[in-house]
Amino acid sequence: MVTQTGTETDELRVWVDQDLCTGDGLCVQYAPEVFEFDVDGLAYVKDGDGDLKLAPGSRVDVPTHLRLDVIDAARECPGDCIHVLRRTDDVEIAGPDAE
Ligand code: SF4
Repeated sequence: MVTQTGTETDELRVWVDQDLCTGDGLCVQYAPEVFEFDVDGLAYVKDGDGDLKLAPGSRVDVPTHLRLDVIDAARECPGDCIHVLRRTDDVEIAGPDAE
């Protein structure tokens, strides 16, 4: 489900604002290759090697085959805290700051 122009082909990056994460796990269900809980019960992004990125605001590339799953997770995230950005210009295409 993509409704905004360009998202079908743009390379994307994603980050999670843990300050707002409710820990419900929807994102982990959608894209377990990208999102994972740490011991604090909050969701974090992880890189292509599967390493959790614990620093606040850490961004990772979204694998092409998971683009729609990550966008759906951002749109349905109860905490409104998943930010999906277009890699070329950092414009948020899904998440609380998307138009
Ligand atoms: S869907 Fe949003 S609120 Fe829920 S665990 Fe993932 S980042 Fe946190």
